[in-house]
Amino acid sequence: MDTPLIEADYVIVGAGAAGMAFADELLTASDATMAIVDRRQAPGGHWNDAYPFVRLHGPSEHYGVNSRPLGNGGLEAVGANRGLPERASGAAIREHFDAVMRERLLPSGRVRYLPMHEWQADPASPASGAAVSRLGPQRLRLHARRRVVDATRAETELPGTHAPPFEVAAAVRWVAPHQLTMLQEPASGYTIVGGGKTAIDTVLWLLEQGVAADLIRWVRPREAWLLNRADLQPSWAYFGRSLAAQARQLELASAATGIDDYFVRLEAAGLMMRIDPQVTPTMFRCALVSEGELQELRRVRHVVRAGHVRVLERDRIVLERGVLPLPAGHVVVHCAANGIPPRPAEPAFQGARLVLHYVRRCAPSFSAALLARLEVATLDDERRNAMSRAVPAPQVPADWLRTQLQEVHNELGWRSLPDLAEWLGSARLAGVSPLLARAAREGTPEIAALMQRLRHARGRGLGGMARLLAAVQAEGEQGPQPLARRALAVES
Ligand SMILES: Cc1cc2nc3c(=O)[nH]c(=O)nc-3n(C[C@H](O)[C@H](O)[C@H](O)COP(=O)(O)OP(=O)(O)OC[C@H]3O[C@@H](n4cnc5c(N)ncnc54)[C@H](O)[C@@H]3O)c2cc1C
Repeated sequence: MDTPLIEADYVIVGAGAAGMAFADELLTASDATMAIVDRRQAPGGHWNDAYPFVRLHGPSEHYGVNSRPLGNGGLEAVGANRGLPERASGAAIREHFDAVMRERLLPSGRVRYLPMHEWQADPASPASGAAVSRLGPQRLRLHARRRVVDATRAETELPGTHAPPFEVAAAVRWVAPHQLTMLQEPASGYTIVGGGKTAIDTVLWLLEQGVAADLIRWVRPREAWLLNRADLQPSWAYFGRSLAAQARQLELASAATGIDDYFVRLEAAGLMMRIDPQVTPTMFRCALVSEGELQELRRVRHVVRAGHVRVLERDRIVLERGVLPLPAGHVVVHCAANGIPPRPAEPAFQGARLVLHYVRRCAPSFSAALLARLEVATLDDERRNAMSRAVPAPQVPADWLRTQLQEVHNELGWRSLPDLAEWLGSARLAGVSPLLARAAREGTPEIAALMQRLRHARGRGLGGMARLLAAVQAEGEQGPQPLARRALAVES
């Protein structure tokens, strides 16, 4: 029997935040048809497997798809983030994507959705492939009349779906964060393995549940620089603060003598934070925390800095540079998945293929929607690519500079296209861009002065960033990130 063929203008592989934001914007801006393939059972990508206490790290206001708001647009009423713009829970994010699929994409009659199907690219034709059911023998051939859209670039790795990167002896009690909510009896203590955002979320949650800080032991092989959440709120209520933070960052870049000095200056200005002021962080992955959360995290005093965990044995944990006892009844929490692993960069627009990478710092939803806008613009791929260079998820402190410089380059291209500039001024996902447009219309004298300060700082600040980055590169980089470095080499 012949394998059935489905044809659509676009075949979108991945119904995570990127695939959904792209499909939503394409639906608005064109009359294209789409087939969306995902191996998961529901849209939303990794949010389907996240731990139950997960929340967005940034504000809901600028996450999800462009056509539909997420969250209540208000401020957090309780907890360590009180007064900051609301951040959706994992459940609210899943509901958002589910509603977009059921109430907008599918009823349009232009979208076919194939959940629980694995995409297999056709090596002979970039416009074709197969969707293979994970539940039965169904196999569908798919052909994209325009492009196959790769919305799988993030390949998000979570502790719930990715095994620990260390050996585990049989009968050792370890859990991923989502299993903490299912413990049948209290633990005698907790060892958190990992220094990233998942570990931070897990420690904060344990403390919030009333677990005593001295029952928590935290294995942090590397320290991270953390962004101060209050300075990165593209929200009207925080706009003045956000403008001042941007201006300060630029001013400090022109004054700094090196990358470490730059981060210390950012810290002194309250823009960057670290849990332990005695240790120089070597990691930077765009994690945001509030000052209240930072104070909570500092309550955990038992921090183990002896490298990565190698083996979990019945009564001890073997690390790269030491051994820890593992008392009876103690629970080890695996928070050591890679999040968004580094990938080599490639152009977004590649003939029959379109790769949804980030085109702005740590902005997956915005980036996918922007790429949809570029797709419908009357441009050739060379011009599209010139203004959509990859802005890879940062890994090390120097990436904060690298991604800003790359983003500025992209932004200049977008603003050269009147239609795109207009879209930026109004799109929900565009973060600070609509706020700038609003400020131009109705800004107070204080906002006008801050914008003037920002304009003034820009030229020298970007020059300073380029200088700091060049010095890092001349010194042979920092941190074990060969892929990220290779990505930049491809890009530059
Ligand atoms: C805990 C946590 C909090 C975060 N908070 C924020 C935040 O506040 N703000 C923010 O902007 N970002 C945040 N992020 C970053 C986050 O990764 C992105 O926001 C976004 O969800 C990534 O979406 P994605 O579609 O690119 O990737 P994914 O969610 O990984 O989706 C990719 C999809 O592709 C599918 N797929 C892959 N390969 C195939 C195949 N061969 N066949 C079929 N389907 C396939 C997968 O099943 C998956 O559903 C957070 C990340 C984590 C882990």
